[in-house]
Amino acid sequence: MTSASPEPMPSRRALPTEAAAPRLEIRNLRRFFDGRAVVDDVSLQIQAGQVTCLLGPSGCGKSTTLRMIAGVEMQDSGEIYVDGKLICDTVFRVPPERREIGLMFQDFALFPHLSVADNVAFGLKGSKDQKRARVEELLHKVSLAQYIDEFPHHLSGGEQQRVALARALAPKPRIMLMDEPFSGLDNRLRDGIRDETLTLLKEEDAAVLLVTHEPEEAMRMADEIALMRSGQIVQQGAPYNVYTRPVDRAAVGFFSDTN
Ligand code: ADP
Ligand code: MG
Repeated sequence: MTSASPEPMPSRRALPTEAAAPRLEIRNLRRFFDGRAVVDDVSLQIQAGQVTCLLGPSGCGKSTTLRMIAGVEMQDSGEIYVDGKLICDTVFRVPPERREIGLMFQDFALFPHLSVADNVAFGLKGSKDQKRARVEELLHKVSLAQYIDEFPHHLSGGEQQRVALARALAPKPRIMLMDEPFSGLDNRLRDGIRDETLTLLKEEDAAVLLVTHEPEEAMRMADEIALMRSGQIVQQGAPYNVYTRPVDRAAVGFFSDTN
């Protein structure tokens, strides 16, 4: 007996999954070192304009995850998508410099022989005037316009970090990857720079993955926290939910450790 079910209506509309493609998606990423999975089946989605904090103790696999997204480390399995397009799996790989990713690390050295302006302009394309305009815009946003022609060694640590942020954001990256970017700074400066950074990140509309081992930083900056332990994401959600409803005793301990 044949069923007489009607043909589905043809549709030209985008499939829901296409319309809702996150800016960054990683699926089932794995990385082994010496036979041990240091990143073990990690999946995440981040929308444009959203800050996700990958939070967990030292050695749990945060930086390795971030380095795979940046393209400087290859995964052993899993895929990475940007705006729904595959940029990396185990056979296909868009090189790091073509991934439209901004990077910021703790010891993110500026080029000492270049002025602040030239540091910020470093990755920029376009005419001299266009580059200058973008540099001025960003230095203004990080309140360092007056240092545009100075050299990095004239700036404090906090100021240099803000230049590094301006440099990372200058080419309008689709994704910002930040690995413990504030841990080299004085406690006294940190909260202010965190808040300023967050404001700027929101304006620039990148998907942000911020790696940190400090719960306080994640609580302050994240739209979403992904709690990582031994290579796996053990809990994920809004900061308030992750903090008030920890998944297990170890998560309680991690959040209550003051370090
Ligand atoms: P986190 O950033 O959370 O502190 P990492 O991603 O740097 O953690 O490291 C996770 C684990 O992988 C650690 O045990 C680390 O020693 C190990 N590891 C990282 N990179 C390498 C490498 N290139 N070779 C061998 N082991 C590594
Ligand atoms: Mg690390």
